[in-house]
Amino acid sequence: MPEQEDLKSREECYRCRKAKVMCYCAQIKPFASDPEFVILIHPKETRKAINTGRMAFLNLQNAKLLVGNDFSGDPSLSRLLNDPSKRCYLLFPGPAAIDIHDLPCSPSDRAGKAGLSDVFIILDATWSMAKKMFRLSQNLQKIPQVMFKPEKASEFLIRQQPGFDCYSTIETIHHMIELRANGHDAAAPHHHLLHIFRDMVQKQIDYENGAFSTESPALSQNRLSPSH
Ligand SMILES: [Zn+2]
Repeated sequence: MPEQEDLKSREECYRCRKAKVMCYCAQIKPFASDPEFVILIHPKETRKAINTGRMAFLNLQNAKLLVGNDFSGDPSLSRLLNDPSKRCYLLFPGPAAIDIHDLPCSPSDRAGKAGLSDVFIILDATWSMAKKMFRLSQNLQKIPQVMFKPEKASEFLIRQQPGFDCYSTIETIHHMIELRANGHDAAAPHHHLLHIFRDMVQKQIDYENGAFSTESPALSQNRLSPSH
């Protein structure tokens, strides 16, 4: 654990919530994503060394971020869920969850849906915290669930925790945008999500190897498929 003195000397950036020495705000390049995202962050997740949900939110012009564990009475989320121009999905594995690869992705497929725009709601929490958020938030239980199995393990987790089949929230969002992209374009703005994420992971490792602390980087993760 960091020394108390170290904690006191860590002046925080109000925007990215990182110590100023680790602030990544200069690298933020906001863009409007298709689909849209709502990131629901568990309060405990906000205290992790790298909160990738916030990092993704800061890079997405049309995203919404809410912190809490029970969103049943959240007026802004309720407004969104009841918006007839939106089609909301919750990214959460379960027997009824639809594989995101089976959703209509191409613009021509979606044009048939009366111009509805898709919104994906992502729980930024560990799997056990996400289950609690889902159980408490009755409004989230009423919308279709989607899931996907990552084609490869998280880049960061390969190095830290072999065998994990979960993506961080920012990798998940990148993957979902890529799925909708019209062919792979290396210069597309959403790839910046991975660039800024990789930079921060490396910076965090360097920082922690630099005798500041021996604590390992605790990433915000989503387990996107049940254990197998
Ligand atoms: Zn910052």
